[in-house]
Amino acid sequence: MQISRPDASPTPGCAPDRTLETGGRVVWETSGMTNADAAVSDIGPTSDRLGMPGTGVLVTGGGSGIGRATAVALAEVGRPVAVWDIDGAGAEETASMCRALGVIAHAAVVDVSDSSIIEEAVTAAAESLGSLGGFVHAAGISGAGVVDDLDEEVWDATLNINLRAAAIICRYLLVPFRAAGPGSAVVLISSIEGLFGSVMLTAYCASKGGVLGVMRSLAQRYAIEGFRVNAVCPGAVATPMLEPAFALPGFREQLEERTPLQRISTPDEIARPIRFLLSGEASFITGAHLTVDGGLTAVTAI
Ligand code: NAP
Repeated sequence: MQISRPDASPTPGCAPDRTLETGGRVVWETSGMTNADAAVSDIGPTSDRLGMPGTGVLVTGGGSGIGRATAVALAEVGRPVAVWDIDGAGAEETASMCRALGVIAHAAVVDVSDSSIIEEAVTAAAESLGSLGGFVHAAGISGAGVVDDLDEEVWDATLNINLRAAAIICRYLLVPFRAAGPGSAVVLISSIEGLFGSVMLTAYCASKGGVLGVMRSLAQRYAIEGFRVNAVCPGAVATPMLEPAFALPGFREQLEERTPLQRISTPDEIARPIRFLLSGEASFITGAHLTVDGGLTAVTAI
């Protein structure tokens, strides 16, 4: 028995040509492939498993911190990168670091909170790289503030950049992902603040918890196409975002003391797990979040 999914894609140009059978088996009407075939086709030579070399990846927030480290880590395994950031100089610097590793890389100033420009920007990214089969949403702001003093502009900006943009961009990725192939994958950056609450970060916690919800929903929608969607939940990472917190006396020391590995992470230590989740090595992982926090959330403090 087959269930047609005519309404599975409301996005113009993304009408599905697939059929979902009961039990979740998907048949591509054009190729006759199933989602099981797609998973097996991911498992190629070691070089392919390490990251679909030659297939482009879009990295938002790529001008700094985790986004920059991710773009460079992907370039190291031969993946062309489109680097988006609101900071054009930072994006260009990252793109040039990637080009130095021998891949095509393009920088673009894209404010991910502006939904009206996303479709065109995604199309431009795919055209500039020649293909687009990966996406990492690393653009983000900390949106600090206790609920008592909630600034609605900060709330809106935090939710729009950290959360809404992830879903809007994914909406327009279906077209280039279909062209790139069934190994295409998405990694959204949540946070341990998406798993637990922090009194100082009401909007940020909401956005990062929301990212996990969007990831789980998208994972089901994208699975119909043979694509995977996952999230990483970093603990504290040494990037410009944490600099204001590190300026507070004792903050960093207390954090390191509470962390089983006794330190905070480098951006590269988040980028490598992201690269793994984008690669064929993670071909059966979708709808999952990977906590990368040096053991911090494994600790129960009494
Ligand atoms: P970061 O160094 O500040 O990088 C974030 C980048 O996003 C910056 O270049 C920032 O530009 C850019 N950005 C901000 N608003 C944007 C917009 N509207 N459109 C496009 N780009 C925009 O911070 P990070 O630590 O690497 O953070 C990356 C992601 O990891 C974020 O989602 C963050 O929440 C998450 N994360 C970080 C940590 C941590 O400890 N650092 C922990 C858990 C999760 P500007 O600098 O010009 O604003």
